[in-house]
Amino acid sequence: MPTHYHPVSRIKNLAPSVTLALDAKVKNMIAEGTDIVNLTVGEPNFDTPEYIKNAAIEALHKGYTHYTATAGIAQLREAVAQKFFQDNDIEYTSSEVIVGVGSKQLLFHAFMSLLEKGDEVLVPVPTWGSYMEQIKLAEGIPVLIPLQSPFKLTCADIEAFITSKTKVLLLNSPSNPTGAIIEKKELEKIAQLAIEKKLWIVSDEIYEKLIYEQEHISIASLSTEIKDRTITINGFSKAYAMTGWRIGYAGGPLPVIKAMEALQSQTTSNTCSITQYAAWGALKGNQRDVQKMKVGFEQQRNVANKLLSKIPQVTYSQPEGAFYFFINIQKLLNSSMTSAEWCELLLEKATVALVPGEAFYFPGYVRLSFANSVENLERGILRIQQFIEGTL
Ligand code: PLP
Repeated sequence: MPTHYHPVSRIKNLAPSVTLALDAKVKNMIAEGTDIVNLTVGEPNFDTPEYIKNAAIEALHKGYTHYTATAGIAQLREAVAQKFFQDNDIEYTSSEVIVGVGSKQLLFHAFMSLLEKGDEVLVPVPTWGSYMEQIKLAEGIPVLIPLQSPFKLTCADIEAFITSKTKVLLLNSPSNPTGAIIEKKELEKIAQLAIEKKLWIVSDEIYEKLIYEQEHISIASLSTEIKDRTITINGFSKAYAMTGWRIGYAGGPLPVIKAMEALQSQTTSNTCSITQYAAWGALKGNQRDVQKMKVGFEQQRNVANKLLSKIPQVTYSQPEGAFYFFINIQKLLNSSMTSAEWCELLLEKATVALVPGEAFYFPGYVRLSFANSVENLERGILRIQQFIEGTL
């Protein structure tokens, strides 16, 4: 079809989300009748808890269907501020909180608010792909900090990459795709370094509720000095199984939150009004369901771990949080095959979908999501094993 559209450089330089594209491809194949075990999924395999749905239904019946304040309804911003205090030991006022269309949008608005053209952002890799594209869209320069298995970020990893242009350090603990957590003593050192070097911290804590053996620590809770340099990003997608509702939140110094609000007022306005009431219900209700889902994820992780440990050709570290295994498949590759190609072959021959490490700026690895039923994990990992052993 003839077109008058020639992508502008901003679009030409933009890599669309690999994980979302892969997910769409796999869903199409499933719709066409192919029996695929989809282990790419970045969302909980649980339904949104009933009490949250009920809060949305009630809001709908009450007619809360109009625009709201850009930064979110007052009662939700207040509830988020309380949540930050109770769960994370951070004292934000409700005006230091903004609610938006998922943490993804808030991350973008944080980068847009913090970066001048050419400012450098330190990004530990493996990393979730969206950070890179968002930083570039905000005219910043991502500077990759390569980590080694088990991918636990330390202060020493960061120091060597700081230049006079470094403006922001991105933290994501627990991490997508590795599930690794930054230890408290390292967070303390990182906070000190950020204060000394006058860096901003963007701390993506979206997997906070999915930590299996430890407690979550927010860097902004460590001192008022670091709190004044940190934007804490979180959301409802993973903790409350609300990925489709599109709601996230951020806390930070008032001028930054105001800047993010101004951006939001000219882009999306408020996120869906009904979603906001549902999110308020989520925070105000009993947190038993969050706990139950966590127990479910932990069981799924343990099943996957047991099965994967029987495949000697691959190696991985046990994820401490989130719901992913980041698996080293280098022994299975040769000079003519990349991990992306290996994933394609796996999909074709074994009808199992995984995300290649390339999507996380870390080739030679694959990401397996254990946000799936035990039955699917068993079927999927058995097929992976058979594929590797050449019996499929
Ligand atoms: N941050 C990380 C590390 C993620 O993995 C994701 C989703 O996969 C997001 C943010 C975005 O979540 P939301 O649904 O709140 O936009």
